[in-house]
Amino acid sequence: MKRAISFLLIPVFLLLSGCGVQQAQEQFFTMDTVMSVTVYGKGAEETASAARQVVETLNGVLSRTDGNSLISQLNAHAGDGTAVELDGDTLELLTFAQRMARLLPGDFDITIAPVMDAWGFTGEERHVPEEETLAQALALVDSEKLLLDEAAGTARLEEAGMAVDLGSIAKGYAAARAEEVLREAGITSALLDLGRNITLIGSKPDGTSWRVGIADPQDDSQSLCVLSLEDQTASTSGGYERWFEEDGVRYHHIIDPKTGYPASSGLLSVTVISPDHLLADALSTALFVAGPETAMELWRSRTDFELVLCTDQGQLLVTEGLEAGFEFRGEEQGYGYQIVRR
Ligand code: ADP
Ligand code: MG
Repeated sequence: MKRAISFLLIPVFLLLSGCGVQQAQEQFFTMDTVMSVTVYGKGAEETASAARQVVETLNGVLSRTDGNSLISQLNAHAGDGTAVELDGDTLELLTFAQRMARLLPGDFDITIAPVMDAWGFTGEERHVPEEETLAQALALVDSEKLLLDEAAGTARLEEAGMAVDLGSIAKGYAAARAEEVLREAGITSALLDLGRNITLIGSKPDGTSWRVGIADPQDDSQSLCVLSLEDQTASTSGGYERWFEEDGVRYHHIIDPKTGYPASSGLLSVTVISPDHLLADALSTALFVAGPETAMELWRSRTDFELVLCTDQGQLLVTEGLEAGFEFRGEEQGYGYQIVRR
């Protein structure tokens, strides 16, 4: 079953009251999602277009469905001993992904690709795989068998059939690269909506904070809460964006690498807020698999991100760093919330 694309994080109050500020917006479809880049200030038009180009170019490098991409080349040589020469972007991203897999072992793994394929999430025919097919695919998932040689700038996958899928982090990385382009052009106010990854550059042109809504995972036309943010990414992962139904059961696209099945950790969605755009994207996927206890444990051990977890019991767990800019909106839909302290 295919669903129309919808925006899960809704930038509200995007329109400005102040006038006289140049504004430009680019809307486009890449990385399998609808994106938009809105830029304010001098040179807004050229800069918005340059930011878009960065994201589209990265898609051509990182996509595993584009046969010409570097990632496709890496995957095509799995098991044949060839070390594939990569560019700086790809190498950086693979290195980061491996670190993330070591941080949250069993929750995050970019070599999940064979399992995504077994479920048909890569193509149009989504289905519950045969047990044996799934077991074979799962046996190929192991980030430690992605061998990176940073000095040589190469990588290879140790076993035939292995493949890398950067769907969990490509948008966060694209946001970081697009921000560089915007900053270099002197832009201090912009909003990048890269499909459930909302990146806020600076503040709104009138100097006030951006306001970002987090969607209700059970009805994404409604907001659960609104956050006031600046210079950060809010990245949301949930089981409600890509899914299909078979025999009355719903199956979604975020896979638990321990089982090969869609993750069910007691969460409906995870939003990670961080000035590190890539980290936000990676952690939203990983913590959705890991569940609320691990998520809060990791949050307590670090200071570089905040969380909004939506549990399957209808509770929002909001970490205290967000408290000042948090507005609850989920009452009518029957949600409650709790501020989590360190
Ligand atoms: P979306 O891309 O839908 O906004 P995410 O950032 O959470 O959401 O990424 C989901 C994608 O990550 C999946 O489509 C798949 O490509 C990949 N993926 C699924 N499960 C995992 C996992 N456990 N670890 C790493 N990547 C995963
Ligand atoms: Mg992600």
